[in-house]
Amino acid sequence: MLPPSNRPRSASNASNDEVEEANKSPVLDGNPILLAKPHDELWYKDGNIVLATDVHLYKLHKGILANCSTVFRDMFDSLREEGDESGDSAPAVCSASCSEKWENVPLVKMVGDRDDDVYHFLMFFYKRSFFRAHQPSTRTFAVFSSLVTMGAKYDVGEIRSELVEFLVDFFPTTLDAFDKEKSSEIFSDTREGQAFWLLRAAKQFLNEPTLLPSLYYACASQPLWTIFSLSHLLDRHDVEIIIVGREKMLRYSHRVATALFHPYADGHLRCSSDCLNAKASILQAYPDSNSDSSWHPPFPLEIAIDGALAVNPDTSTNVCYSCNMNYRSSIKAIREMLWRDLPYIFQLGSWEELLN
Ligand SMILES: [Zn+2]
Repeated sequence: MLPPSNRPRSASNASNDEVEEANKSPVLDGNPILLAKPHDELWYKDGNIVLATDVHLYKLHKGILANCSTVFRDMFDSLREEGDESGDSAPAVCSASCSEKWENVPLVKMVGDRDDDVYHFLMFFYKRSFFRAHQPSTRTFAVFSSLVTMGAKYDVGEIRSELVEFLVDFFPTTLDAFDKEKSSEIFSDTREGQAFWLLRAAKQFLNEPTLLPSLYYACASQPLWTIFSLSHLLDRHDVEIIIVGREKMLRYSHRVATALFHPYADGHLRCSSDCLNAKASILQAYPDSNSDSSWHPPFPLEIAIDGALAVNPDTSTNVCYSCNMNYRSSIKAIREMLWRDLPYIFQLGSWEELLN
């Protein structure tokens, strides 16, 4: 719906009284509130509350906002207690952040909130398809970040549930689900180190422990310089968990390498010298094989099903069939072991404890 066309008016078509009235308009953070424009989209003629940022005014419905947020509900209750909300008489008495009126409709200043955050937050409630789990349309990091900020500040359970449902696809509790989604983009505007922002959101707002093992893993599998450069987003304890967990995960990476020489059940001695030489050559190259230039072999959850054999396909053709099959099953077992241990690695107990 469009905002009323008569507001704000210029001096050329408004009476002297109206100009005087406009000049007495409320002030938002030192600026006349008239500088904030009614929003093109979120302005409902039948709205009974105006939310104001330093950029926009949003004319909305108290019932809808109070229903989604206990903070709004308390705010509107205090408006009702402290002033006349009918809009027919004097302005409501100032409470914490509500003191003004816009065309006789109570106006609430969104103190300390960015206009973008307020817009994304309101769209979540007024446009049902705006940001929903399993729905790729508006899944941007910017919107997610706004919803976390506003959802936490205004205590909105519906946002919390939706964001958890959205993230469980990408930070699941089973290895199969992890493998299925690990190369999917979470947001259309991927942000470097976004795992750290997501972990912070999970710790501060989402309150869903089953997300944590794979979120910690996503942070711990980053290069060390990324971990240090984003460590300010987390508290010290979480950074310690990530670095210690990363150290523990390296043991599993070494197992991927040494598994090349695991004897198989019916004895290992029948291998040809070509096979032994190929495996030795692959083992030698493996520590330097990480494509992202990290100074360690790849973490097992990131590797191909043939592990170190993928490092040098030409040499790998000399590895005999029995060794190849034996190695692949070792890789599978190591990956499953790492997944099983993931909560322990990050000091979260067991999967069973997290899921109960
Ligand atoms: Zn062999």
